[in-house]
Amino acid sequence: MTNTSIKSLIRTIPDYPKKGIMFRDITTLFADAEGLREVIDSIAGEFQDKNIDVIAGIEARGFIIGPAVALALGVGFVPIRKRGKLPAETIEVEYELEYGSDVIEMHIDAIKPGQRVLVMDDLIATGGTALAALDLIEKAGGETIGCAFIIDLPDIGGAQRIRDRGVDVFHLVEFE
Ligand code: AMP
Repeated sequence: MTNTSIKSLIRTIPDYPKKGIMFRDITTLFADAEGLREVIDSIAGEFQDKNIDVIAGIEARGFIIGPAVALALGVGFVPIRKRGKLPAETIEVEYELEYGSDVIEMHIDAIKPGQRVLVMDDLIATGGTALAALDLIEKAGGETIGCAFIIDLPDIGGAQRIRDRGVDVFHLVEFE
């Protein structure tokens, strides 16, 4: 399966969740057995020689692909969540949104100092969420080796912001 066929399995919903947004819906891609297999194999293949110790997945769609790639690489998975969802002691990072700000959290003991981490989410736009995840991992003493997304929106420039931090970015498809 080519990246073009992966792209054709992603459904676009105009004006969701608000007017002007083209929402890229990966549920149609995950519902396709071959599409799902291809996404997981491609990301795992890209990082199999990079000595990843653990995958950190960003709520919520990073929870769907993250554990599958973790299994393929033979490593563990840790969740990065919106504020107030994790039961044990957490560390948190606040980040800016278009209007206001938001907070993401991770368990304080989820990543051990020195661990090599791969960050995963379905899509990167501004990069605000992923950059906050990098800050969280740094706070925990981990080293982010790369970030993997199914979709990049290159015109918005988030992936470049991550590369500017010296972290590799991998994606499968792009949309304008
Ligand atoms: P950002 O922090 O701006 O890079 O936004 C990335 C987060 O917002 C990811 O968790 C995405 O799932 C979600 N997101 C942003 N834009 C879109 C979009 N056009 N379609 C689907 N999800 C999006």
